[in-house]
Amino acid sequence: MNYHDYMIKREEEYEALCRRCGACCGAYDDPCVHLKKDNNGKYYCDIYSNRFGPRVTVGGDKFDCVPIRDIIHQHWPKDYLCAYKRIYRNGSSRIAQYPVSAPGE
Ligand code: SF4
Ligand code: SF4
Repeated sequence: MNYHDYMIKREEEYEALCRRCGACCGAYDDPCVHLKKDNNGKYYCDIYSNRFGPRVTVGGDKFDCVPIRDIIHQHWPKDYLCAYKRIYRNGSSRIAQYPVSAPGE
């Protein structure tokens, strides 16, 4: 496997960790306007590939969507659901292995 393929694989592994609980996007508080729910009850971002940057909540609050790694040390409602936070709590070095950042989700 070449380096490019390796990085793609690691990215996919990292993304797959997300439980799509929506908690980091405000599902249990004041959600981002881009947070949507599918037929299986899982959350997704309707602008996922372009998600980072200035965003607004349903309630009108402005915030910046950033990689989950950048807010992993912060608290948000029901953040105990977050797979990345669990890894972080069990040793932040493991999360640093991954080359990219997922939702945020
Ligand atoms: S990933 Fe960012 S833009 Fe997408 S729903 Fe979550 S907070 Fe909003
Ligand atoms: S990044 Fe964490 S909090 Fe956000 S949807 Fe995925 S598992 Fe849930």
